[in-house]
Amino acid sequence: MRIYLNSDYAMHNASGEMHQGKLVDCFENPSRLDNIITAFKANGVSEFNSAEDFGMQAILAVHDADYVDFLQSIYPKWRAAGNTGDVIPYIWPVPGLKRAPHQNLNAQVGRYAFSSDSPIMQGTWQATYSGVQTALSSLKAVQQQGQNAAFCLSRPPGHHAHKANYGGYCFLNNAAICAQAARDNGAAKVCVLDVDFHHGNGTQDIFYQRNDVLTLSIHGDPAHNFPYYLGFADEIGEGSGEGFNLNLPLADGTDMLQWTQALQLAAKKIQDYAPDILIVPLGVDTFALDPISTFTLTTEDYLTMGALIADLNLPCVFLMEGGYDVGPIGQNVYNVLRGFEDGAN
Ligand SMILES: [Zn+2]
Repeated sequence: MRIYLNSDYAMHNASGEMHQGKLVDCFENPSRLDNIITAFKANGVSEFNSAEDFGMQAILAVHDADYVDFLQSIYPKWRAAGNTGDVIPYIWPVPGLKRAPHQNLNAQVGRYAFSSDSPIMQGTWQATYSGVQTALSSLKAVQQQGQNAAFCLSRPPGHHAHKANYGGYCFLNNAAICAQAARDNGAAKVCVLDVDFHHGNGTQDIFYQRNDVLTLSIHGDPAHNFPYYLGFADEIGEGSGEGFNLNLPLADGTDMLQWTQALQLAAKKIQDYAPDILIVPLGVDTFALDPISTFTLTTEDYLTMGALIADLNLPCVFLMEGGYDVGPIGQNVYNVLRGFEDGAN
């Protein structure tokens, strides 16, 4: 499987996030990818391809232009205004705060952020932009260069980002950008199967009224888990998108047997849809010891996960999303790809 690495992945390295009422070090930090690269090399994988630069077009096909401009420009403006730390929201335009949006920087940040866990710092835009290019390079390998599968090894992740909102450590939605680009490159039907522990709220929202991109997510029940406000089983799509979104929220403590049963439901839906290409936002925060999640998958289980995805028998683009137990993260990710390759052969 061809692997593409975001060479700018360490440029986003924010100062901290709110967690359980305290300001703590960011769970989503460069050591995650450092450890994945180390584990891949220990498993004999040494070829990490560089991304091609496809420019802004695919980004603007999904995200609003004013939002993209905000992401690109907010940090220097923020610092020029006298702020000494990272860009962090502290007020949001909830219903009743009627004069939002306007141009004050704090008002803008609250307008575009939906959570406080995703500080923007000097390198955030560059790391995020390069991450999109890495994802698009992985898509190109599969859609145009005959590869059966490719893996985009990148951070920050993307699946929580909406058209014009960031949060959950995500700024641009790599999966949605890839899905749209796949459509624009000629795929008639695209499927996004999100296996991160957290619901892929941004991806769902972006395609919620469309039937040309089937979105599915297997995740921790949002009644107890981030992103709380989206990801329930009764969200099935709207308008012409009705029936083209499937959420499979699972209970805290879910193990591989229960997870596999959910995947089998997803697989049935995918087979009925018969997409041209499969995009898999891959988080390994389903791991038993993950510090911000509640499933109980083991390192061995990820081999099975990869094999189950291979059984779908579709060209596949894997995109790195979450996974915060930094020690075993590399072997867990490697095992998904290993299980896929073994299952595909
Ligand atoms: Zn996650």
